[in-house]
Amino acid sequence: MPAKSTPMLERYLEVKAEHPGTLLLFRMGDFYELFFEDAEIGARDLGLTLTSRDKNSDNPVAMAGFPHHGLRTQLAKLIAKGHRVAVCEQVEDPKTAKGMVRREVTQVVTPGTLVDDELLDPRSANFLAALHADKAGTVGLAWLDVSTGEFRAADMTARQAADELARLDPAEVLVSETPPKAADETRALWEAESALWTSRPAYAFAAEEAKRKLCAHFGTQSLEGFDFAHGESPGVTAAGALLDYATETQRSAVGHVTRLTPHRRGERLVIDEATRRSLELTRTIRDGSREGSLLGVIDETVTPMGARLLADWLSGPLTDVAAIEARLDAVEELKNDAPGTRALRDLLNSAYDLERLVARLATGRATPRDLSCLGRTLDLLPAIEAKLGDRQSDLLHDLFGTLDLCPESRARIAETLVEDPPVQTGQGGMIAVGVSADLDEYRSLARGGKEWIAKYQAEESERSGIPNLKVGFNKVFGYYLEVTASHRDKVPADYIRKQTLKNQERYITPPLKEYEQRVLGAEEKAVALEIEIFDALRDEIARDVPRLKATAAVLATLDVLAGFATRAASGGYCRPTVTADPVLHIGEGRHPVIEKLNPSGTFVPNGLVLAARDTEAVLNSGGMPAVCLLTGPNMAGKSTYIRQAALIAILAQTGSFVPAASATVGVCDRVFARVGASDDVGRGQSTFMVEMTETARILNSATRRSLVILDEIGRGTSTYDGLSLAWAVTEHLHDAVGCRTLFATHYHELTTLPRTLPGVANANVSVHEADGEVVFLHRIVPGPADRSYGVHVARLAGVPKPVVERADAILETLESGDGGKTANVPKPKKPAVQLGLFAAEPHPLLEELKQIDVDDMTPREALAKLADVRDRLREV
Ligand code: ADP
Ligand code: MG
Repeated sequence: MPAKSTPMLERYLEVKAEHPGTLLLFRMGDFYELFFEDAEIGARDLGLTLTSRDKNSDNPVAMAGFPHHGLRTQLAKLIAKGHRVAVCEQVEDPKTAKGMVRREVTQVVTPGTLVDDELLDPRSANFLAALHADKAGTVGLAWLDVSTGEFRAADMTARQAADELARLDPAEVLVSETPPKAADETRALWEAESALWTSRPAYAFAAEEAKRKLCAHFGTQSLEGFDFAHGESPGVTAAGALLDYATETQRSAVGHVTRLTPHRRGERLVIDEATRRSLELTRTIRDGSREGSLLGVIDETVTPMGARLLADWLSGPLTDVAAIEARLDAVEELKNDAPGTRALRDLLNSAYDLERLVARLATGRATPRDLSCLGRTLDLLPAIEAKLGDRQSDLLHDLFGTLDLCPESRARIAETLVEDPPVQTGQGGMIAVGVSADLDEYRSLARGGKEWIAKYQAEESERSGIPNLKVGFNKVFGYYLEVTASHRDKVPADYIRKQTLKNQERYITPPLKEYEQRVLGAEEKAVALEIEIFDALRDEIARDVPRLKATAAVLATLDVLAGFATRAASGGYCRPTVTADPVLHIGEGRHPVIEKLNPSGTFVPNGLVLAARDTEAVLNSGGMPAVCLLTGPNMAGKSTYIRQAALIAILAQTGSFVPAASATVGVCDRVFARVGASDDVGRGQSTFMVEMTETARILNSATRRSLVILDEIGRGTSTYDGLSLAWAVTEHLHDAVGCRTLFATHYHELTTLPRTLPGVANANVSVHEADGEVVFLHRIVPGPADRSYGVHVARLAGVPKPVVERADAILETLESGDGGKTANVPKPKKPAVQLGLFAAEPHPLLEELKQIDVDDMTPREALAKLADVRDRLREV
């Protein structure tokens, strides 16, 4: 406590105590001030100068501040640093306040509860999540995008909740200050560090109270109407705690949150966090950016609403064939109507972010400019509707039916607001002429008053004979007459002197003061009335929030579908056939991202045929493999090929066309992708333990309908160890799961698996030799890769012929087992041919050669190694 407590500081401490865990911005005159530890944080995170109050006392109070107009900028910085910020305003006019100005917190800004455009990324959703659990360990997860009103909840396991959190990537997560065990478990499973964790009092997570709050908000008796079964649901409890927090931080009802939607996991393709990362679905591994991810490549949307919806669709593709087909039908129709789609996109391009406008409208934060933007967006709707008429596909037809033109709101905005209203209400200038007779009168009075003053100035100048007599204005005296020192003697007797300055004197007169009253009074009244009219308009339009929200959803969906159509046309994508059979047939498939990065036309397309084991599709076709075992040298294109299969499946289930000449995609329930630890460049910390934990997850949770992508699994440990694991994993996936699997591996030994496992097929990436150079053809062909590739490269590199021949012979010997039966693979047999020098006990050189991983060597390394071997042999 400061040595000398003032009423102002007392109020500060009071407000601070009411908002634990937040940084308090305390308005004092034209500044926002931070005190005590907050001041130090402000100095550190905002670069403010740290000063102190009561400097001379024993106990000075640390203080830092910034001018009031910097609020948005500073808030943005604080939020980016992960702070919660309470803004305490002067809620009384200091001019009229008796005693100390009353101060109240008008908003609490937190990373998860933003609605302001300046603080949000227009192209990403901003989720606030709440995590809870019951005693039995069922985890409840609820999430809300306050900036759009999307609100969902579900009950699940801790593992599933961690996956959902990875998908949602929330900015802030609420938990009880005494979190249930399963909530802590979820938190531990979800690795993301970026979200802010906010503890809430335990009573906020009391089931009954949470339910009551939800019912009160939605004005319902129960939540059954929202399809939430009665009885205990930690998800519903989490939703209640979440809504409570949202209302508290917004300081207003969140009227745009019109329903709580149960989230059904089965309706969406499950993609866990590791898969999301390694497939780079929405951000790249390297720098986490959208650019260079699948999302970045296929995003052709023209509105922020569309961009956000696309991210949502892509993070959770569909699993229902009919729902997927509905999207594909719409995309196809739009694609076939290129001019119509272009026109539609032009219209959408002019639309503002209706979803977020509506959120600000519902939380009472819409500015005059927001309403004007809303109006302009509504103005586009009739033309958009016209483009939607006469459509064949059900989805477009439904969108046409759902599109609500909100004509009343549109008309009200158009007739009430001026063309280009200001952002702030404080200065007036937003209400059009003709809206209110009173307003028009005040305005003409104010204007007339100004004209009168001009006339008065001219008259007085003439009467007094002072040529440069001027009417001036300042806040202290109001209007006054200004006379320079040289004309002082001409001042008429009826002027009342108010102030003497160095070179001039200032006077007032009764008529001037009388007019001042009228002008200032009229201006003030006009502004007050404008604000009144604006508030009424805002409230009136706010009643349309549910309709406006529905329309925003239509625009967003249209934007995504039209974007898919555009991408399909420009990228040469084809419409996939989507089926319930667990097959994956791709004709001339391409990797959508690599294809774009490579010079145009240089990407080599490749096909794929896979089917889960023992499915009808397999039986009918005479045995399609379930497991594709891909071998080939480094940089051949293995990783690209297996990833493109997963990306094509995901795109198809999202409802997009796919980068291929043809594709039949059997709906997957889950897609798994794992990259072996040593190949996972983006993850510095990655250990073999992590790799095995993730592999274990696949083996435990993949079903026959899943798609599994394994990239160099097992490489993170010693050769035999890793090989044995890779071997066993493949066997298990084949025998016990039978799902569609693509496995890129440098373990050549695995290529013998097809001999014992009927559902496994070998493929390799062909490499061509031309003019002594190795050319990667990136073409996938059946069969195992050529084992002697490293020796081959050595030959190309110019290693002397005898050495190469010798190496070939050694290799052959090392490899000769009894036909590659499973048990013999790990341990090479003792060389069968006479190795001369090596024949006695194991020679160190022989041991060394055994350990060479040919696939892992560059041609230069192979050459160096061979030269080394030769030199050492010569020494013997
Ligand atoms: P691997 O996993 O076999 O080491 P990658 O899949 O990482 O190889 O591919 C290496 C590089 O080869 C890629 O970065 C890409 O530029 C190129 N590449 C891969 N596949 C193709 C293809 N089908 N067509 C053209 N270039 C390709
Ligand atoms: Mg690779």
